[in-house]
Amino acid sequence: MPGTRLSPLISRRLVTIIGLGVALPALVLAGLGIYLTLRIARAVEDESARYNSYMALQVGEAFEQELMSVLRRSISRAENLSRTGADPVAVRAAIESETGEFQGASLVPLDELDGFSLLIVESQPLLFAPGEGDRRGQYFVGLLLRGPDGQVTGAGGWWMEPRAFLVRHLPAVTQDRLPANPRLYGGFESTRKLSVTLFAGFGQVLAQVRDPENLRTARTEPLAGPFEGCAVRVAATSNAPAVWTTRFVSVEITFIALMGMAIVLATAFGLRYTIRQLELAQIKAGFVSNVTHELKTPIALIRLAVETLELRRVGSPEESERFLRSIGRETLRLQQLVDNILDFARLEAGQRMFRFEDVDLLAVVHETVESFRPRLEHQGFRLGLDLPPSLPAVRGDAAALSHCLLNLLDNALKYSRTLREVGVAAEARDGAVAISVTDRGIGIAPGDQRRVFEKFVRLETGLVHDVKGAGLGLSLVDQIIRAHGGHVELESRPGEGSTFTLVLPRAGGAEASQADSRQRTGS
Ligand code: ADP
Repeated sequence: MPGTRLSPLISRRLVTIIGLGVALPALVLAGLGIYLTLRIARAVEDESARYNSYMALQVGEAFEQELMSVLRRSISRAENLSRTGADPVAVRAAIESETGEFQGASLVPLDELDGFSLLIVESQPLLFAPGEGDRRGQYFVGLLLRGPDGQVTGAGGWWMEPRAFLVRHLPAVTQDRLPANPRLYGGFESTRKLSVTLFAGFGQVLAQVRDPENLRTARTEPLAGPFEGCAVRVAATSNAPAVWTTRFVSVEITFIALMGMAIVLATAFGLRYTIRQLELAQIKAGFVSNVTHELKTPIALIRLAVETLELRRVGSPEESERFLRSIGRETLRLQQLVDNILDFARLEAGQRMFRFEDVDLLAVVHETVESFRPRLEHQGFRLGLDLPPSLPAVRGDAAALSHCLLNLLDNALKYSRTLREVGVAAEARDGAVAISVTDRGIGIAPGDQRRVFEKFVRLETGLVHDVKGAGLGLSLVDQIIRAHGGHVELESRPGEGSTFTLVLPRAGGAEASQADSRQRTGS
């Protein structure tokens, strides 16, 4: 019917108002939420990376302190002897007796100290020099020795394998020597829970404490002094804030995205619902105006005929006959409309009861067609019947089935133009009986063939303005036939005509008994 679809202008406005008012702000806010979350995550990662870099430097220093403390312990006897002014031979013997974890002890005289490099560890100088030849890969590491008057007399030290030292002392360094500063990183990061990896040149892993969880924020710093050529990498383990943040960010982004999607979906559904409601309101308004018109026209015609007859203005008996026929025709039209509306209301309310019995469809078809014949003939239609001598019985409500047929015949008349031919045929099918009504009228486009069975739907054809209707007939036919366990088929081509076929299951079949047991309510 005209107006079953909302006008594109109103639809566009609704889409704009609801889309711009709800969906767009929701999407913008969701986008902003995701952006801010990513920014926070980025800041946490940057902070974590800075912290890891700081801790890698701390690990380097801790190794130097560890080396210093080992050296101090090893040299203490020689140092004491030197301070008391003991003979260098005794001092050398004291150094040599302390093999500990080093090897190749030596006492370096004062005049040979120039060739060594110095590293200040805890305000004390640590001497070191790389080995050559057989000692390649090793480092000489030592401390200064002083005489009784505090004068430097030389240095005592050992040959050390830096990589072996690093590997051996890594657990002690990470456990005892790293600063456990709770204020670092807001107190979140515990230095005891870092992953520390030692590398020799070219990325060869020497040793590792704890598995790293997030390598994006890991930082590597080179070691200095006798450990030159090696490097230390500090990375976060599973409890670190950077790792939480990564997890939290993925959860939060998924959450925000889902929320955004939910809002967009809710808006789309809300929009569809609103459009549907507006369409329904429009349909109802159209329905009321259609029905009013449908009622008014026959009533006006009947009144006119009755008044004319009452005033005895008719000239001849044929003329009064014509008026009486007109009254009969219009009364029938009124009755059909009122029946349709009542039937529709009962079906909608689930109150339409059918009286099921074995029905001789052929008899129903004959009766209905005969009752309709005067209208057909009056409007100049040719009726073609193609009925077999007998048909299997169907279980059904004869009055309701006749009502369906009447609606189809009525439509065939309403929607035909110059080619005024209506055909009614019946045939037995496999397990079913089919009755069809064919016209050579305006036809129905394929895209509309499902819609015509919806309630209140009237197609916007050229005829719809001339032909009145409430858009209920086919919806009723469809509901009634389905309540009988059957279905309605439609074959139609625009401009060529239509065939509506009612297919009903034979009495005794499974579908017929199912329909039988369905309480006979049209629901
Ligand atoms: P009404 O005839 O009161 O409008 P119906 O439910 O009987 O309502 O039909 C719905 C619509 O289907 C009609 O408005 C018309 O557009 C289309 N239609 C129904 N029957 C035919 C037909 N035989 N030929 C062409 N169009 C039809």
